Amino acid sequence: MSSCCSIPTGSTMPCPSCAQIGAVVGAAPVRPHRPDSIDGAWQHCATPSCPVVYYLDTATVDADSVITQVGHKATDQPMPVCFCFAHTAGDLLADATAHGGASTIKAEIKQAVAEGHCACEHLNPSTKCCLADIQRILRAAATAP
Ligand SMILES: [Zn+2]
Repeated sequence: MSSCCSIPTGSTMPCPSCAQIGAVVGAAPVRPHRPDSIDGAWQHCATPSCPVVYYLDTATVDADSVITQVGHKATDQPMPVCFCFAHTAGDLLADATAHGGASTIKAEIKQAVAEGHCACEHLNPSTKCCLADIQRILRAAATAP
């Protein structure tokens, strides 16, 4: 399972707020939160008390501007199933229901993972790929009365 996610490489910079060096995750996980984010080697700051979630040089995305929780950040945002692309369990179920049980979100995530646009081991607090969780939620929904 360890080969499912690949991480873009780039030069690593310290977080502009807490000075810890975050993992390079690329632009794909930043886009759901900031659609106009520039392409590049975005990094994820994993310090729970630091307000910066993603940064690239001096550009930052902070905990108030993300649409779902990312990693271990303490925010009031909903907890996603897929930390890379900010999908929540509610999103998944609504999508599966709208498409007769076939989730297009799952297909999109699979495609993104195949193309290497996923950084689960840095963004998901479990450090595992989210596809297994997504599978479980969809299966549970399908068998629910
Ligand atoms: Zn930081």
